[in-house]
Amino acid sequence: MSDNRWVKFLRVAAAAVGIGGALLPPASAAATSPATGSSPSSFQYEIKAVTAADLPYTYRAGCPVPPEDLRLLVMSYRTFDGRDAEGEMVVHEDWAGPVVSVFHELYDQGFPIARMQLVDEFQGSDDRSMEANNTSAFNCRAVTGRPGVWSQHSYGGAIDINPVQNPYISSGGTVLPAAGAEYVDRSRMAPGMIHASDCTVQAFADIGWYWGGAWTTPRDYQHLSYNNK
Ligand SMILES: [Zn+2]
Repeated sequence: MSDNRWVKFLRVAAAAVGIGGALLPPASAAATSPATGSSPSSFQYEIKAVTAADLPYTYRAGCPVPPEDLRLLVMSYRTFDGRDAEGEMVVHEDWAGPVVSVFHELYDQGFPIARMQLVDEFQGSDDRSMEANNTSAFNCRAVTGRPGVWSQHSYGGAIDINPVQNPYISSGGTVLPAAGAEYVDRSRMAPGMIHASDCTVQAFADIGWYWGGAWTTPRDYQHLSYNNK
């Protein structure tokens, strides 16, 4: 399904359940995001309902969080060539407002993001999503390298940002995605990289989230989560 058809489908689905256009930022997000979904900057966002049919690959029966508890975020981001783009991400409803506030901050800071599409666009494949340098959140799947253990992405409580610039490095030293090898040297300061205490880590810390780049092993520079897992 093309991006445009996908968006249109989701909008129709959201309207059908009466949530289209409803914006419910919690107090932490309200400070930076007025209820109109826009602000003096050109950052735009919408928070929408999703159903299992909207998530044909990333949700399956038996997953720990039902689709009713997830939300689709449609929001602005800055590309690597400085343009504005509109991305999509699915997170747990409890984090929808706070996550919007984080990406609003990243947008205002000019932090570049390569792309932001649902992992369903990659048939639910985390490997393909990472290879495409996709920034994403919900995907009901096991922890990388630990079959049978739900990843925090299964709960909509973890986000991966620019996987190429911020690779995952397993305890055995495997770098994912492979193109991330160029960014294993964290003394580099290339655009889109995440470093300790930078604006990205700080924006997530402001909503109580943790950065996987601070782990000893594995190291997961792309990963931010609400419970540090
Ligand atoms: Zn992750």
